Amino acid sequence: VTVDVEALAVAVKNGDRRSIARAITLVESTRAEDVALAEALLVLLYPHTGRGLRLGVSGVPGAGKSTLIDVLGRHVIAAGHKLGVLAIDPSSQLSGGSVLGDRTRMTELSRAKEAFVRPSPSSGASGGLSLRTREALLVLEAGGHDVVIVETVGTGQAEVAVTELVDVLVVVLLAGAGDDVQGVKRGLLEHADVIAFNKADGANLPLVDAARDELTSLYAWMRRGEGPTVVALSAREDRGVLELWQLIEKRFRALSASGELEERRRGQRRAWFLRALQEALAARLASSDSARERLDALREAVEAGEVLPRLAARQLADAVR
Ligand code: GDP
Repeated sequence: VTVDVEALAVAVKNGDRRSIARAITLVESTRAEDVALAEALLVLLYPHTGRGLRLGVSGVPGAGKSTLIDVLGRHVIAAGHKLGVLAIDPSSQLSGGSVLGDRTRMTELSRAKEAFVRPSPSSGASGGLSLRTREALLVLEAGGHDVVIVETVGTGQAEVAVTELVDVLVVVLLAGAGDDVQGVKRGLLEHADVIAFNKADGANLPLVDAARDELTSLYAWMRRGEGPTVVALSAREDRGVLELWQLIEKRFRALSASGELEERRRGQRRAWFLRALQEALAARLASSDSARERLDALREAVEAGEVLPRLAARQLADAVR
């Protein structure tokens, strides 16, 4: 099949859903012929990106991320936005050994014409994020989605990776799951803008309120009030979710006004460039048999402690021309 990249770019910019879906499939493809087409497409779309709000929603499986995004998304649409969601594909998500593939995720949102929900395969690494996630985000933005939500799994590494592509990060926690303390330890403090304790309903309510208060005072003590905002909400009952959206917007406006947003995005573009460079060099190495053999041999020698790692790296880099 031949792809008319220019026509596809125009259709994406017109917000054509099928074309947006096709464009994302193209950028996610690893087939050699698609890679060049994807790059050409992204070059055309790039000037039409970057004007909207990029929101990360992170948390362990079962925290209620997809329920929350479903409800939050409706508030976002009601506020007049066009919403894109890069959701974790449940068929690739594992929890305690059981596949959570039987769940229907974001059913309301999937039906809304103002929303485009795209399940993306979770690679397991970095909460399922890759350079492809960032590129899919650009396609959604070029397609007129002025709010894009990126969902990621886990606490710790995932948040660090997702901050390379979003403006505002919400981390969803469960009270009493040990998440709260663990999260603080593992870098959430640095990366989350909002910590949302979900499932503040029924018998769980006092537990959640207590967890929120505890974390709020911990942050106050550690950071003199500069830490993330801690909230309690119920995605299921749609309580506190509109307030969460207002908090996100307020945070985004403050970042824009102070110039911090542009500073963040500069850093993100730099990180993207360096990752893409690594990927390109690795692909170059893998494309030549002799380089690959050399790489394998050197890796063994490095593992065995026979060759200085930086020497091996430089020798391989010299071999790539
Ligand atoms: P995810 O894995 O983080 O996307 O979590 P899900 O959104 O699939 O939710 C996991 C489970 O928690 C589901 O059975 C939901 O119905 C339930 N759940 C989600 N939000 C709430 C909530 O606010 N209150 C209660 N009681 N249950 C919830």
